[in-house]
Amino acid sequence: MTERLYYTDAYQRQFDARVMRRTEGARRLYLDRTAFYPTSGGQPHDSGTIDGVSVIDVVDEGTTIAHVTAAPVIADRVSACVDWPRRHDLMQQHTGQHLISAVFADSFGYQTISVHFGDKMSSLDLDTNTIDLHEIREAEARANALIAENRQVVVSFEHATDATGLRKPSDRDGILRIVSIDGVDRSACGGTHVRSTAEIGVLLLRRQEKIRKNTRIEFVCGQRAARRARADYEAIAGIAHALSASVDEVPGLVNSQLQQLKEAETAGRRLATEIADLRAREHYAATEPDANGMRRFAARLDTGSLDEWRSFAIAMSTLPRAVCVIGIGVARSVVVSASEDSDVDAGAIMKRVTAAEGGRGGGSARLAQGVFPDDESFARALPLLGG
Ligand SMILES: [Zn+2]
Repeated sequence: MTERLYYTDAYQRQFDARVMRRTEGARRLYLDRTAFYPTSGGQPHDSGTIDGVSVIDVVDEGTTIAHVTAAPVIADRVSACVDWPRRHDLMQQHTGQHLISAVFADSFGYQTISVHFGDKMSSLDLDTNTIDLHEIREAEARANALIAENRQVVVSFEHATDATGLRKPSDRDGILRIVSIDGVDRSACGGTHVRSTAEIGVLLLRRQEKIRKNTRIEFVCGQRAARRARADYEAIAGIAHALSASVDEVPGLVNSQLQQLKEAETAGRRLATEIADLRAREHYAATEPDANGMRRFAARLDTGSLDEWRSFAIAMSTLPRAVCVIGIGVARSVVVSASEDSDVDAGAIMKRVTAAEGGRGGGSARLAQGVFPDDESFARALPLLGG
């Protein structure tokens, strides 16, 4: 059996212990006592050293705790040290979670159904499929007010039958470990917590996400919250600088610029169509009709975009008795258009030629498009399409 020192003193970071058993080439140690928290209850295991060797995993095996080390540890008596900044950070996140879960339950009746503590971000799942922004703001403000009130956080051991007023009833029998935040919360929990709410520092609620019928909310506490807020500020300040605006002006300015961009895109499309129409009329007028009164415009180009020339071909097809074939060399693509009274089916011709030359393409009787696998098939296809 391993005595869990963190149960009674979460602030003990150094300890001596006796090695009771070792396996896996002396890389898995069982000690008579430990301050290392094992992975459980959503909280990751502690890191640190045993006799100077890194601890890479800590596993709860029921009555004992296994310490997995990076190298063999052969001494029978060892000195160990928990990575304190990391542990203290997790204590802040964990106590912050108790606090915010209590606030959500008391203020809105939302119960916490699961929690997760990550290296960068932690989250809790609430039993509600929707949560309003005003509820998020209110819960965050309430939690930070309770942090400022410096409420004591104490651990007690109570028999399951006597333990009343728990936020979530425990399904365990016997002695329960109860973590209480003075006047706010009583929860059965085996994790590590800070001594008072003030030590949480600050709590920020962040992204929310719907997970099936529940809502997952990310949160950060302590130095993490300060680091996250700094990263947010620098990101927004960068946008503000690019817009020559203040940070507070950014949301309104980004929205109005998006709107302007949409309007500019619409205007751009309209102008492109007008230019294509003008060009088509110009080329149409310059093309001599054949004996049947048909105007056949053909060109091979090595510049310009497919979109641009497709607009031109569409404009051509709106003019009387016209067939237009444009090959774009860099894309090995061909656009064919035919006006309604031309008796030419652009799609049918394109289908026949792409099939013969191993290309891909098709379209309607008025407009068709195809692409060919190499320069040779593209060059052969162009005259077959009327180009
Ligand atoms: Zn806890």
